[in-house]
Amino acid sequence: TLDFHPAGRHFLQIPGPSPVPDRILRAMSYPTIDHRGPEFGALGLKVLAGIKKVFKTEQPVIIYPASGTGAWEAALCNVFSPGDAVLMYETGHFATLWKKMAEALGLKPEFLGDPGIEGWRRGVQADRIEARLREDSSHAIKAVCVVHNETSTGVTSDIAAVRRAIDAAGHPALLLVDTISGLGSADYRHDEWGVDVTVSGSQKGLMLPPGISFNAVSEKAIAASKSARLPRAFWDWTEIIEMNKTGYWPYTPNTNLLYGLHEALDMILGEGLDNVFQRHQRLAAACRAAVNAWGLEIQCADPAVYSPVLTGVMTPEGFDADAIRRIIYDNFNMSLGTGLGKMKGKMFRIGHLGEANELTLMATLAGCEMGLKLAGVPIAGSGVSAAMENLMAGSIAAADRK
Ligand code: PLP
Repeated sequence: TLDFHPAGRHFLQIPGPSPVPDRILRAMSYPTIDHRGPEFGALGLKVLAGIKKVFKTEQPVIIYPASGTGAWEAALCNVFSPGDAVLMYETGHFATLWKKMAEALGLKPEFLGDPGIEGWRRGVQADRIEARLREDSSHAIKAVCVVHNETSTGVTSDIAAVRRAIDAAGHPALLLVDTISGLGSADYRHDEWGVDVTVSGSQKGLMLPPGISFNAVSEKAIAASKSARLPRAFWDWTEIIEMNKTGYWPYTPNTNLLYGLHEALDMILGEGLDNVFQRHQRLAAACRAAVNAWGLEIQCADPAVYSPVLTGVMTPEGFDADAIRRIIYDNFNMSLGTGLGKMKGKMFRIGHLGEANELTLMATLAGCEMGLKLAGVPIAGSGVSAAMENLMAGSIAAADRK
């Protein structure tokens, strides 16, 4: 057993895994069934149809029993051949990891963006992608790969702008997008934005435990997969798409997580995707109001790309963000996201995604404010009060209810 026995419910306020709602936990506790039996096919067809609505696509969505990293690999190895040039964009730690993976698989990624911390405070600059593609008159670049919601920083890039940049350059490159932490929290439109492969995962906006991940594809991506020569077996789309037509998989799928996905889809589509997105925007705005009131800096330096999923908070010089996180963990039973890569010790991340609502956010901010004070960080004012004012300004007053 653990030495540490905190009372009450742990506040898991990292930007994924996000808290798993009780409804989903209960759904996942049903007995595991025969994955070749009739009941399973019905479940498979339901979740495959439902998840398409969340990606906003009419094309197949492949579900893997893997973490997001597996779906990253699947996206790359299904459409590329050894030595293919790909254009990636440095938005933060996860963009960097995806690029490393591309290298490990034998691709030739070119990394646009600014390698300094400033580059990690802004989104993808679509004009730079356009300029680079215009130079590539021989069409050596096979794809543009970008991260939609960069979880390490709290920056949500404009994917429609990236699509426009590729089209403006008249370039045939595929568009691959990681929205592992954006799906089900931030507006996302696979078909409308002309994305060829969208990669996502279960443990963020979908409110599930880690363990399943996704590739939403396009016809162009499927066509590219026919001639792609990177070795692949488990990740190969072809047989999965074929068997998915009747609701089954070529291997043993993650049955209990699929029960959870079924429940999550019911919750998300029941609330309505637009309402889900608005709720995330509302909570994110209130969170930023708190950070501003504390007089601390928000990691994202461009308000146009503030993330609705998480807020990165930079700590003043001389204050180790991980020490503050530890104080909050020890005293208030709450986990916040650590600074990743270049941001280690310089920031913490507040997750406000998935099951989050006004009061979970307020409790989270109260924990942060107490922790900042206990750590001796000089704060300008009460972020908790500022967030409450912000939330009240957006709510329905009793008088307006009639
Ligand atoms: N990409 C992004 C944007 C992420 O946030 C994460 C995980 O947090 C990953 C990729 C990697 O996914 P996983 O840790 O599920 O393998």
